[in-house]
Amino acid sequence: MKNLILSLFLGLSFTLFSQDNPIAIVIHGGAGTILKKNMTPEMEAAYQAKLQEAVEAGYAVLQQGGSSVEAVEKTIRILEDSPLFNAGKGAVFTHEGKNEMDAAIMEGKNLNAGAISGVTTVKNPISLAIQVMNNSPHVMLSGKGAEEFAREKNIELVDPDYFYTESRMKALERAKEREKDEGFWQNTDYKFGTVGCVAVDKNGDIAAGTSTGGMTNKRWNRIGDAPIIGAGTYANNLSCGVSGTGWGEYFIRATVAHDIAALMEYKGLSVQEASHEVIYNKMAKLGGDGGVIALDRQGNIAMEFNTAGMYRASIDANGKRTVAIYKE
Ligand code: ASP
Repeated sequence: MKNLILSLFLGLSFTLFSQDNPIAIVIHGGAGTILKKNMTPEMEAAYQAKLQEAVEAGYAVLQQGGSSVEAVEKTIRILEDSPLFNAGKGAVFTHEGKNEMDAAIMEGKNLNAGAISGVTTVKNPISLAIQVMNNSPHVMLSGKGAEEFAREKNIELVDPDYFYTESRMKALERAKEREKDEGFWQNTDYKFGTVGCVAVDKNGDIAAGTSTGGMTNKRWNRIGDAPIIGAGTYANNLSCGVSGTGWGEYFIRATVAHDIAALMEYKGLSVQEASHEVIYNKMAKLGGDGGVIALDRQGNIAMEFNTAGMYRASIDANGKRTVAIYKE
């Protein structure tokens, strides 16, 4: 009897004290002038299906007890392998007709981070960023050196032709035409389809990742906000994880991702309030556009953007699913 009571007591305390943190995940597939009138029903369905596939895959990792970094990697690789998004396979072209990709990952429990920029042969840049975080003494590697490191770590490399897609090549041609009349990057929308994922796992650890081809017609080895920790990517268990998408120069100047986390940590704002504040009252006022996805340790989710649309999907702490493209 005594033993029975003791084991009941132990069992009860185990369930009381080993409660898992709520798991949640949120993803984006880029923000911009995404209007229903410019979409065919087939395109819309294709985007929705890919977003759903990616978010469900990441959520399954979390459900099986995987870490938030594993969930972010799994999710982003699916989006990178799709030609629909401006990351991996669907990366946009530079002025010279190349594909130069940037990516970053950050872990909220210890502020570890890894980033890469300007790689041209790495099939899944997010996986290389994770290698940089876990298996190098550095935070950010670029260009040829990053690719040499990828080779050493057996990261899959492909011929640069792998990244050729006709639609992105046409976008580059249009951008070059428009540049003649409007000037470099003036009044145009060259940013679509960067991908990002933020997740919190059963241990309450947050991770955020972003992967992109950058902006169409970029030159001079331009690097965007995605691989810059605190600009396009950030995670801290004390506040939130953030992944951004939009006009990278403004995200860098406004330190968007870190500002959101700082408003939560220092001023007690909610993830929703902090995201709104930085997107609308800081970044937009500088003249930038774009959006963020963010979540906190409790699984509260924000998807905030000042553009017409942002490809996005989430599964919150109650298992509630969202897949959306336009503002409303
Ligand atoms: N933020 C990315 C960059 O500026 C582009 C995007 O989000 O689509 O490189």
